Amino acid sequence: MPTPLETLIARAIDLGLKSSLATPRAATLLASKNPSPEAAVIIRDSNQLTADYKACLKEIETAAPQQYASLRTQIVDQVRKAMKKQPGMRKWRCKVCNFLYDERIGMPKRQIPAATSFQDLPDSWECPDCDAGKDHFVLDQG
Ligand code: FE
Repeated sequence: MPTPLETLIARAIDLGLKSSLATPRAATLLASKNPSPEAAVIIRDSNQLTADYKACLKEIETAAPQQYASLRTQIVDQVRKAMKKQPGMRKWRCKVCNFLYDERIGMPKRQIPAATSFQDLPDSWECPDCDAGKDHFVLDQG
């Protein structure tokens, strides 16, 4: 059984990875002159992941103030290692309505975490905009 502190550390590493994956995409969208409604959602989800990561680090600091500096270094190292192992994240486009599923972002508001590959979505998954099934999606080359 992991201790509560170990559980918090594992959660921080997971959130750190997810926010690291989501942030560059959100930053690119933020820099574009006319952010779409889709971009606004991606930016919001990325901000939420970053906020959750920071909150988790804060919890660790509260739980283990003496060890916090070294724990934080360990967490940052683990996040970097996890980032390196991450396969190329891709985007999938709905052929019916052009909705884009971005594996880096997932759909946090629908309980699909960041870095969830399209293949790992349940077979019952449907396009959130038009209800088309997974077989209506194609890899987005753009
Ligand atoms: Fe669709």
